[in-house]
Amino acid sequence: MMRLPAFDYRVPREVGEAVSLLAEYGEDAKVLAGGTDLLPSMKQGLFTPKVLVSLRGMAELRGIRDAEGGGLRVGAATTLRDVARDPRVLALYPALADACSTVATHIIQGTGTLGGNVLLDTRCTYYNQSAFWRTALGFCLKKGGDVCHVARTSPTCMATASADTVPALILMGANARLVGAAGERVVPVESLYTDDGRDWNTLRPGELLTEVLLPPPAPGSAILHRKMRRRQAIDYGFLLAAVRVDGDLAGGLTDARVVVSCVGPRPVVTPLGDLVAGRPLTAELAEEIAHAAARPAAPLTTHGVMPSYRKKMIRVTVRRALDTLRGEPSAAV
Ligand SMILES: Cc1cc2nc3c(=O)[nH]c(=O)nc-3n(C[C@H](O)[C@H](O)[C@H](O)COP(=O)(O)OP(=O)(O)OC[C@H]3O[C@@H](n4cnc5c(N)ncnc54)[C@H](O)[C@@H]3O)c2cc1C
Repeated sequence: MMRLPAFDYRVPREVGEAVSLLAEYGEDAKVLAGGTDLLPSMKQGLFTPKVLVSLRGMAELRGIRDAEGGGLRVGAATTLRDVARDPRVLALYPALADACSTVATHIIQGTGTLGGNVLLDTRCTYYNQSAFWRTALGFCLKKGGDVCHVARTSPTCMATASADTVPALILMGANARLVGAAGERVVPVESLYTDDGRDWNTLRPGELLTEVLLPPPAPGSAILHRKMRRRQAIDYGFLLAAVRVDGDLAGGLTDARVVVSCVGPRPVVTPLGDLVAGRPLTAELAEEIAHAAARPAAPLTTHGVMPSYRKKMIRVTVRRALDTLRGEPSAAV
């Protein structure tokens, strides 16, 4: 049985108090939201914080509020289930509701939070293992070792972005409100990630994610979320994709973007405005978009699924999503 290491548990009642605790304890502290990723990771010895700062006592971090000027403000500690079931989210942001519903299982969705998902650690088959397993291998670049086992000459870690909600959030133009001892800032969710799976997010030390801000959906835009995983019942994805098209599907598109995740430390965003401008979403254009979205992604052996298959399935998955938008059965293989 894997046991949790000892830690001090703090339950601040206000964001200011939480931020003070994070500043006081520095690298010895970790934020605990639903704990569905952090606690198993602590059992595996991936993190050994001396203090856990729980979000449980701060009602202001839970719930979904209407934003001034349209859109929604989702408290970082709102559960994935509450996001997925909110009638406003279902009506305005169905891709986000869908993405929340593909995380793990219903039980985990009832505990795991949107903020915890946005800040989910990067994952790799050589990293998300017990300390015993990792010791046998001599550890890896992300934790305790000096070699990346999926790219042995790489100076950076290749563990992958794996959070189900992030591709859709990026395409929605969602922002993150971050609060730290030095003040508050609002940044695009897209800017939260880096190219190094070790130091994979751009939060400043001691910053807390307090809200995810969803802008009003642009008229005439459609977003779809897609996930491939080995076990449908419960599993992280080996491929995540979100597809956005803007404009008149039959008359002519004005813009398109695709985000592909689980293929590197940060989601790969492919803008396709030049390719689609003025063109109707025909089968031919769908295939061109799917090829263009797959081109920049370079899956490695981070998952127990062959990189060549994952690369091929980017094109297939994106094509199938576009065919769904076209209302056509997909022949993509
Ligand atoms: C069996 C299993 C299957 C899973 N499958 C999936 C899956 O398919 N897809 C998927 O995306 N995830 C999956 N997960 C991971 C996890 O359940 C979700 O990502 C969940 O949304 C994490 O949220 P949480 O509140 O539990 O985060 P926590 O575990 O509490 O925290 C995750 C990380 O975010 C940090 N953090 C959390 N909230 C904040 C905040 N407000 N400000 C600053 N830092 C913060 C924590 O310090 C920690 O580093 C799975 C987990 C398990 C155990």
